[in-house]
Amino acid sequence: MSSIQVKSNFIKSAFHLMGDFVTLFFPNHCLGCSSSLYKGEDILCTRCILELPKTKYHEHVENTIKARLTGRLPLTYAMAFLQFRKTGVVQHLLHQLKYNNHPEIGVRLGKIYGKELADSDYDKAFDLIIPIPLHKSRRRTRGYNQSAKFAEGLSSTMNIPWDESIAERKIKTTTQTRKTKTERWENVRNVFYIKHPERIINKRILLVDDVITTGATLEACGHELLNHGCSEISIACIAEAQ
Ligand SMILES: [Zn+2]
Repeated sequence: MSSIQVKSNFIKSAFHLMGDFVTLFFPNHCLGCSSSLYKGEDILCTRCILELPKTKYHEHVENTIKARLTGRLPLTYAMAFLQFRKTGVVQHLLHQLKYNNHPEIGVRLGKIYGKELADSDYDKAFDLIIPIPLHKSRRRTRGYNQSAKFAEGLSSTMNIPWDESIAERKIKTTTQTRKTKTERWENVRNVFYIKHPERIINKRILLVDDVITTGATLEACGHELLNHGCSEISIACIAEAQ
């Protein structure tokens, strides 16, 4: 890494730390850019919302996420709200959501995306929203499941119920970050358990996750739901990693 890169990474970290400090003590600041929020703005400023890198996959039924899971999980719709890049506002927001105790970001992004989906009539396409479950111990440490927060936001603007108690993660998995596609599948294939199959019989499920990479987690959980009697599976993620 060159000294210029080191310096620029240092400035970026310092900027984000400063932003974390500002938003911790002054909650009326945007969690994307730390600028002051105007009346009517909630969690994110208008500029950050307008600049979010949207995929618009809901306008293209055949998209790269659906292609990624072809032959692995039969899907009705496959969508992601945003494009994930290693730097930039989406990475920053997801980091705040997962590691800095800001569950409200998940709800806010879910509300924005749910409104867009409802405007395209997707509010009639699903009966129930289910988030990918976290293992109990991880949920306890974090205090919430970030995917459930996104589900909660989607539910409020799509007017579709959500339920985080149907599926459970029975095995605590190690991080998927440095694993190959095959290792990721081996890591998650038997970890999900459907606790309340009676609640999904013949239902069109929208399964929700934070970031989709290979799709192994969604594939494993989706198969469990299909094996227990739901009629269709669709997926919606906060962001798509390349
Ligand atoms: Zn902002």
